[in-house]
Amino acid sequence: MHLDPFELHRPESVQETIRLARELAPGFDYLAGGTDLLPNYKMHLNVRPHLIALDRVAELQGYDLDRIGAMTRLADLDQDPQIARQYPALGEAVHAVATPLVRASGTVGGNLLVETRCFFFNQSFFWRASLGFCLKADGDQCYVVPQKEKCYATFSGDLAPALEVLGASVELAGPDGRRRLSLEELYAADGDGIQRHRLAPGELLVAVHLPPEARHLRSTYAKLRPRPSFDFPELGLAVALSREGDRLTSLEIATGGLETFPRRFRSITEGFVGATLSTERIGELARTIQAAVRPVHNTAYPPDYRKRMTGVFVRRAVTALWERRGAS
Ligand SMILES: Cc1cc2nc3c(=O)[nH]c(=O)nc-3n(C[C@H](O)[C@H](O)[C@H](O)COP(=O)(O)OP(=O)(O)OC[C@H]3O[C@@H](n4cnc5c(N)ncnc54)[C@H](O)[C@@H]3O)c2cc1C
Ligand code: SF4
Repeated sequence: MHLDPFELHRPESVQETIRLARELAPGFDYLAGGTDLLPNYKMHLNVRPHLIALDRVAELQGYDLDRIGAMTRLADLDQDPQIARQYPALGEAVHAVATPLVRASGTVGGNLLVETRCFFFNQSFFWRASLGFCLKADGDQCYVVPQKEKCYATFSGDLAPALEVLGASVELAGPDGRRRLSLEELYAADGDGIQRHRLAPGELLVAVHLPPEARHLRSTYAKLRPRPSFDFPELGLAVALSREGDRLTSLEIATGGLETFPRRFRSITEGFVGATLSTERIGELARTIQAAVRPVHNTAYPPDYRKRMTGVFVRRAVTALWERRGAS
């Protein structure tokens, strides 16, 4: 595997970045830490002739508890006790990404926009050529769900579900100006593994914003994967809730690693808010979410196992947060 030559551009402001993107479209990709993009380029997956590096764009750097710049390295958040204390789900999700080496280069923006994955896609050119290419790169058919219209590649970023349950939003900049989207709005909920987010062509993710209320939530992130030291999620589950006395006052649950987008379950969880959470109610919640998720067979573990583990993870995580003492 080798990296084909590309031309590297290194703008220093958001304005200059957007201007370059307009000039080079559609023959470019943004380059953040490169830990996802460059391995894909080495496998000749949708290679572009130009890369716009974001490491010198000042506005994308730095973070505090309200705003996380898109170029913030995962390792910086991982080593920050304030993040772990104020946003446990985010701290646990960051810590679960890949390896220390990948976290040292990988960024928050790159993690939210990481390429979707599938075992027919994340392969060398030679491997893919021997089988015949698929819809997501160079071909016209899908091997997972045989048809020619839609890709079912799996969204496999760890941070998105955690930020989703904390109520985060993303700040975007593009040729038509700035806008904010909730995490839920960022991803294409109609579910296609190729068109994996709702960024307009050339649009740049500038920062993630967290609402102050997120600091009062009990939250957690749990991850299922073959090798805990290394692998992408086969299932990522984030839960955030608040409790007043015996009453559940808010509940958010989101999953990753199962479908083409990170999924939030508001229509299910809102039915549980306002009352107490008994063991039976938690079991009912777990079964309902387990029935709702739709994994397909394109990662290491079979879909039925990932689906069943979703129920197990929901039950464990919600029980632990509900019973935790001394929190809000
Ligand atoms: C061995 C290995 C294991 C891994 N395990 C995990 C894992 O367990 N969990 C996980 O979540 N990830 C995992 N990853 C994937 C990846 O390393 C991380 O998701 C990382 O956070 C990606 O960030 P990056 O800055 O390197 O992104 P890049 O590779 O630079 O970019 C990823 C994508 O986002 C786009 N992009 C980046 N920043 C912006 C921006 N600001 N605006 C617009 N577009 C942008 C790029 O164009 C590209 O399409 C793994 C990678 C490797 C190599
Ligand atoms: S789900 Fe289908 S189209 Fe998408 S990457 Fe896999 S084989 Fe290709």
